[in-house]
Amino acid sequence: MSAGPQSEALFERARRVIPGGVNSPVRAFRAVGGTPLFVRRAAGAEIEDADGRRYLDFVGSWGPLVLGHAHPEVLAAVREAAGRGSTFGAPCAGEVELAEAMVAAYPGLEQVRCVSSGTEAVMSAVRLARGATGRDLVVKFSGCYHGHADHLLVAAGSGLVTFGQPSSEGVPAAFAALTRVLPLDDEAAVEELFAREGDRIAAVLIEPIPANNGLLVQRYALLAALRRLTREHGALLVFDEVISGFRVAPGGAAERFGITPDLATFGKIIGGGMPVGAFGGRAELMAHLAPLGGVYQAGTLSGNPVAMAAGLATLRVLERDRVWDRLEKLGVELERLLAPVLGDAPIPIHLVRVGSLFWFSLQPGEPPRAAEAIDPAAAARYRPLFHSLLEQGIALAPSAYEVGFLSAAHTVADLERLAAALPAALARAAEATA
Ligand code: PMP
Repeated sequence: MSAGPQSEALFERARRVIPGGVNSPVRAFRAVGGTPLFVRRAAGAEIEDADGRRYLDFVGSWGPLVLGHAHPEVLAAVREAAGRGSTFGAPCAGEVELAEAMVAAYPGLEQVRCVSSGTEAVMSAVRLARGATGRDLVVKFSGCYHGHADHLLVAAGSGLVTFGQPSSEGVPAAFAALTRVLPLDDEAAVEELFAREGDRIAAVLIEPIPANNGLLVQRYALLAALRRLTREHGALLVFDEVISGFRVAPGGAAERFGITPDLATFGKIIGGGMPVGAFGGRAELMAHLAPLGGVYQAGTLSGNPVAMAAGLATLRVLERDRVWDRLEKLGVELERLLAPVLGDAPIPIHLVRVGSLFWFSLQPGEPPRAAEAIDPAAAARYRPLFHSLLEQGIALAPSAYEVGFLSAAHTVADLERLAAALPAALARAAEATA
């Protein structure tokens, strides 16, 4: 399907003045082809494009909108806060309240510092880990995304342990050389790395529910091994909960797995749709940060009062309405409704789900637990499926590797709509890849 004339015209203008026409690459539809939809408004589970076409949305702005688009209580909080001033550059009560709410909800969290994006949160947590341990190496896992700071834009090659290779131009090899990349789902690889370089490792960084390269659900044993090995070797365990934080449980993946990291990073939901990130951990570690300690970190708009208000309103509704229970029920319902459709599918397809996160694994056999196990043919199956659903008024993420997000605004009727639209989309995918 082609985008409507307004989206086409805006994209044309955008490409003249914005590289690729977008301010974040995946929005450009490169992975699926076609013109991105320019959105003019959204409410609940629905977005409306610049041509007035409406779509049932399973992207949710890539995670922040756990309550759905334009939630009335969040909007009211934003309006109220903005009426008192958009930024002060001085401390405000909202920062304290958000930090208190996070500390109360997340295991082991004693202090948090707010920043303006997930990227900044992880970048700052890594600097803190290095400063606190006096070590340089960081370990990440292939397929986990932690924002676009230089030392984390590093992916794995094949092999048990790969020395970091930059996955972006402009990342000096010398930076990447301080990053070790391991495959997910492989405790032996972690053991081996620690045996070799354990005393040089500042931090092991992981998305405990990896959701940026498909949904690569990890076994408890892998996370438990990370907890044990980091402790034994004096390294810090950092959970990147930018997606999972306040989504899979009030205490994120840490609560779900019953494993407490040394540091955790957040974004998305805690900003309620405004630009916010945060990182935190034990007070003794956080004391290494300026102005108390020697690890520098700062931000003009950090703890922005309007953003704090949006985040606080979101957390308040989540807690008050026990939204996590409702999302889990919706997730179960999604599985139930899709089971017969997927069972009859003319292409290989499995629904992978953790709470309100879901992903279609488009390959035969068990869904993958590591990036290396993803069949490259899956992307070709996804493209026609994506476009068929979009034609039917349902928006999934424009990439085979991105997950879907359920929100409190979704209803069982919405899930039924997806189930009803899927057979045609699956048939299209089968035809296109025959
Ligand atoms: N960490 C994770 C796990 C993420 O999913 C993301 C973004 N999707 C980031 C970090 C970076 O966050 P931001 O895009 O806000 O910089």
